[in-house]
Amino acid sequence: MSGAPARRFEKKFRAGVLGATGMVGQRFVHMLANHPWFELTDMAASERSSGRKYADVVKWHLDSPIPEAARNLVVKDLAPNLDCDFVFSALDSSVAGLAEEEFARAGYPVLSNSKNHRMDEDVPLLIPEVNASHLDAIPVQQKNRGYDGGFIVTNPNCSTAGLVLVLKPLADAFGLEKIFVVTMQAVSGAGYPGVASLDILGNVVPFISGEEEKMESEPQKLLGKWDGSRFVEAGLGISAHCNRVHVRDGHTECVSLSLKKIASLREVAEVLREFAVDDELASLPTAVRKPIVVVDEENRPQPRRDVDAGRGMAAVVGRIRECSLLDVKLTLLSHNLVRGAAGAAVLNAELLAVRGLLHHRDVAKPSVAEPVAP
Ligand code: NAP
Repeated sequence: MSGAPARRFEKKFRAGVLGATGMVGQRFVHMLANHPWFELTDMAASERSSGRKYADVVKWHLDSPIPEAARNLVVKDLAPNLDCDFVFSALDSSVAGLAEEEFARAGYPVLSNSKNHRMDEDVPLLIPEVNASHLDAIPVQQKNRGYDGGFIVTNPNCSTAGLVLVLKPLADAFGLEKIFVVTMQAVSGAGYPGVASLDILGNVVPFISGEEEKMESEPQKLLGKWDGSRFVEAGLGISAHCNRVHVRDGHTECVSLSLKKIASLREVAEVLREFAVDDELASLPTAVRKPIVVVDEENRPQPRRDVDAGRGMAAVVGRIRECSLLDVKLTLLSHNLVRGAAGAAVLNAELLAVRGLLHHRDVAKPSVAEPVAP
């Protein structure tokens, strides 16, 4: 898809999914079904689901059927002894922090979607197109925490993911000073069952717990540097307003920004349009060679029409125009469950694979499913 030659591994890496029954977990299960490098071999969720077959407990939300490889897998509990080489975590944040540490301590690379470890001083918060060099923090993390083979890598919050992907080429070309962003976030971003229908139908909720704080802090780390021993923040001025709207998938963001260097609107559009990843990233199966799509229509991007751009991995940008308070304003859209969650973590895992940071673990003894009460 990305146009780069496809790489091959002799043997597929075996992936486990923590929180496989949730909104993000299902996306992992779907994305792993036909993955050329990874195969789904194990999964875990809460005690509500564990000991039962995936197809019997998951409330499946995707349009395509539950993949065959997943249907009969027995959901395990969170004990760090899954039959896999590494794990994706789509756990609720109430349990993710400790569970992810336990898996890393037991030797599993953990690719996490949860907020718990994103801002830890030795954990990469990764968007491959933005800050792949932050992976250099992994050996320091392992040393700090005494992990032997395991580690934690996180992906950003779903609205930060699209924003920072778009900010990156602008930061490189012109420098960034201030960012003012107002989000309109889809209901699937709240998980399942998420926001009650009576709260969101025909409505806008101008509060998402913790979201503005994440949007104001995570870009500082993502656009900052790893200096060999710690992350140095980018020092941007960021103000975010976050709103829940009654859209199913896709977070829309209205952004105003000030640049360090003067740039015309044409130059801004050109830099965004031409942003392309290098050959290493383009060789990753989930990557898109040009992960920013610029649209010219005055009423785009729109979630219903544009959310699946680049198989959900692109950020779609439109309405690039002058801002009378800062320099430039634009509207962007990205898929919260793909670019902002499962797709982001799968892309991170693919980068780990080509950098030799994933390994085949010894195959664990198959665990026996607990008997299910009739
Ligand atoms: P969700 O639909 O509520 O799913 C939560 C998952 O966590 C389920 O599999 C659930 O298992 C499991 N879980 C809950 N309590 C547990 C416990 N005590 N022990 C073990 N497993 C437990 O949430 P989601 O939207 O998929 O989000 C998952 C994570 O990704 C969250 O940390 C969220 O903040 C983050 N995230 C979400 C999005 C998004 O757009 N939705 C984007 C980026 C990041 P059961 O089904 O068995 O209860």
